[in-house]
This record gives sequence, C-alpha cells and structure tokens, in this order.
Amino acid sequence: MSETYDYDLVVIGAGSGGVRAARVSAAHGARVAIAEEYRVGGTCVIRGCVPKKLLVYGAHFAEDLQDARRFGWEVGESRFDWPTLRDNVLGEVERLEGLYSDMLERNEVEILAQRATVTGPNEVTLADGTKVSAGTILIATGAHPMVPDVPGAEHGITSNEMFHLDSIPRRAVIVGGGYIANEFAGILHEFSCHVTIVNRGDRILRHYDEQIRDRLLTISLMKGIDFKFNAPIEKIEKQEDGSLRIHLAGQDPIAADLLLWAVGRLPNTGGLGLEAVGVELGKNGAILVDEDNQSSVASIYAIGDVTDRVQLTPVAIREGHAFAETVFGGKPTRVDYENIPSAVFSHPPIAGVGMTEGQARDRVGEYKTYVADFRPMKNVLAGRNERALYKLIVDEETEKVLGIHMIGPDAPEILQAAAIAVKAGLTKAQFDETIALHPTMSEELVLMR
Ligand code: NDP
Repeated sequence: MSETYDYDLVVIGAGSGGVRAARVSAAHGARVAIAEEYRVGGTCVIRGCVPKKLLVYGAHFAEDLQDARRFGWEVGESRFDWPTLRDNVLGEVERLEGLYSDMLERNEVEILAQRATVTGPNEVTLADGTKVSAGTILIATGAHPMVPDVPGAEHGITSNEMFHLDSIPRRAVIVGGGYIANEFAGILHEFSCHVTIVNRGDRILRHYDEQIRDRLLTISLMKGIDFKFNAPIEKIEKQEDGSLRIHLAGQDPIAADLLLWAVGRLPNTGGLGLEAVGVELGKNGAILVDEDNQSSVASIYAIGDVTDRVQLTPVAIREGHAFAETVFGGKPTRVDYENIPSAVFSHPPIAGVGMTEGQARDRVGEYKTYVADFRPMKNVLAGRNERALYKLIVDEETEKVLGIHMIGPDAPEILQAAAIAVKAGLTKAQFDETIALHPTMSEELVLMR
C-alpha cells in the first residue's frame, strides 16, 4: 500500500456498511480514516432498526398485559410512560454508539468527526478545510427520509424524529404504505394513539406476498388502525390549537396531532462533490456502481443505501465486507443478492425470503403453493382472534422451495432459520422429512401437505 497518500482508505459515513468496510480494511493492514458528521453507528443504530425494534418490544407489552389475565395473572392497573421508554432506548443507542467508536479505535481506524466532501479522485476535504488524501475513497453516506413537495409538508415529521417525541400523540396520520408506515402504525397503536395510514396507491408493502400483506391489513383493521387508499396528500394546514388538518385528493380531510412521512428514503449524495469529480449518479442521485462496488471513477467506491440497490442494513454490511476483501484483502468477493430474507416489524410481524407467489407466476413455469392458516395456541387461550399464515412456494418440477412467506408472532425469528433452507435450495420433500418440533408455530413449516 502506498505512502504517497495520507491514508490508504477514507470512508465517508460511519453507518453499518462504512464501519464494517473500515474495520475489515484496517485488519488487512490498510491505513484507514472514517469521516462522520453526525453520530457513529448510522441510521440502523441511531435512528432506525435498533431503537425501532426496542419500541416494538415496548409496544407489545400492551397486548401481553391484556392477554396475561387469561393466563391467570391478576394485572393491576397498568400505565404506559413514554418518556421512560424513550429515554431508556436513547440511552441504549448511546451505549451502542460508544461500542462502535471503541471498536473502530481498537482497529486503529481514525475517526474524523466532521462532514467530508470529495474534492478529487483521491482527495477529501473536511468541514474545517483540512484536505486529506487517500488511495481509495469509499462513500457510505446512506439515505434520508423523503418529504414530498406539498404545501405544509414541513408540519410533518420523519422517522428520524419519532424517537424523540415529547409525548405520544392522540391521533396520527402516517403517509406511505411501506416498512416504516406499518411498523410505526403498530407501535403508535399499541400506545393508544389512533392511527390512519394514508397511501397513494391501493396496496401496502408491495414487495411482499399478496396473501400475507392482505392478512396484515385485515388484522390491522381489526385492531382499529384506519387505512385510506388511493389518497394522495394535497396539503397540510396547521390549526390554531396546534393540530393538523390533512387534505387528501377526493376524500374528506383528516384531523391529526402528528403527521409522519414514510414514503421512502433517498440516497445522501447532495453536496458531496461527486458530480464534479466525475462520479456518475443515477435515479434519485444514487451512486452507480458495478458488481465490485466501484463507481465510474476508479478510486471511488460506494456501498449501502447511497447506491439504492437493496436498502437493508445486513446487505450494506455484506457490501462493506466484500469491498474490504476485494480491495485490501486480495480476495475478490461479490455479494450474492439472491434470496435475501427481510421482515416488517409490524404487529404482528411479517417475514419473507425468496419468490412471492406473484413472482413465481411470472418467472416459473409450474409452481405449487402450500399454506398453513392457523391460530397460534397462545392466541387461542388469550382469546385473541389473530390468525397466522405461513406459505411455501415450490417449483413443481424440481420440488425446490422457492420462497417462504409468513405473518404471525415471531415470524422474523423463525424465517431467519428457514431462509437457510431456501438459500441452500432444499426441496419440499426435505422439509417433510424433518420431524416436527412440537408444540411450536414453526413446526407448520414441515407439516404442510
Ligand atoms: P418503502 O419503500 O417501504 O415504502 C414507501 C411507501 O411510500 C410505499 O407505500 C410507496 O407507495 C409510498 N410512496 C413512495 N413515494 C411516494 C410519494 N411521492 N408520495 C406518496 N407516497 C409515496 O419506504 P419506507 O420509507 O417505509 O422505508 C424506506 C426503506 O428503509 C425501505 O424500503 C426499507 O428498505 C428500509 N427499511 C427497512 C426496515 C426493515 O427491514 N424492517 C424497516 C424500515 C425501513 P408505492 O407502493 O405506491 O410505491
């Protein structure tokens, strides 16, 4: 590695992908610095997956406390205190941020706690004007929530601010029908907030299996979450009492105390200086890269959400790792994007891997589906009328399981293990040969006939 530059690698953005790339590159002997303008840990740790999952746990107690009575527990008067949960979650985020920083320092990665821009194929300029040279630059700046350009949009907030609310609103409108909309709808609803999901189209979670998302819709409606479909937002007005009046095309306006924009995330490339040095950008400003994460400028690479390929943390981590192995480890490595498992931490959660039935219809000649539609025994005793649904998509000719899709308690926990079988290309017969583990919900996976 060359001594002509200050560093072998400068990473911009200390999120999950950037941190992994920095740490592994340093372990391979590279001299590495990582620039971060906000907090080490990025979206997932600071204002995404981690604090969200903790809120999901916190929210679920609402149902557990209710169900406990049917299991013989006398539960006294219970009261939810949002500031306690919020502050404990923020404390945990701070702890994790410290661990991330320590881990970088232990691996001799220098943290440059400033905004950095690219000012040449091998040069990065920090906010204080310092110029730093690097043999390779890796952009891992992630993405930010999109806020549509409608009058009054500024009265809404994004998922970034959800973790810092002063109080839980009485009425919330969530715009969008994707991951963030359905996850926060579940959280807020369990905290006794009346939630309305407003969607521009006619379906939620468009990339998930239709039967599974229909089940989530049915259960959400049953719980009391409202949905407005085909309802583009026209404008938002702030009322004198501080509440919001949300105007939808062709429908009555809705009154709310909070509006959450959950309409997708855009790559963070604005003001980074990329176009000036010749880095090609695509739709929404995403950095265009090849299979080795290399941009149109040979010394500049990009990984994670800023490339807008698959906006999932574990994918960004894989990309960061592959980059480090390829560029500094002498071991060319590419990410395999087939059969990526994913989950929505709604109430109840959804999880899936591989082809949905819709995709099988388009891509595979003949396929079969197997469905288990059942009420988990815990729900039966609790008197909770929520059915789980598991679905296998099987290639009729090869018998290979092409996809597994599920909704029900702990679906993401179960699906992670089942995804190994799909990734390994196992057949339905091999699923059937496995003896059921009784009594569990996941035994349904090997009992579908
Ligand atoms: P999603 O892409 O999941 O959903 C966006 C939603 O907003 C869709 O319903 C889409 O409708 C709608 N929409 C898009 N553009 C507009 C617009 N201009 N006006 C009105 N509605 C619009 O985005 P999220 O914001 O929920 O999440 C961002 C990403 O973050 C996700 O794609 C996911 O990759 C990641 N994420 C992952 C999580 C997890 O793994 N559990 C949790 C949270 C986020 P339509 O269907 O018509 O396009």
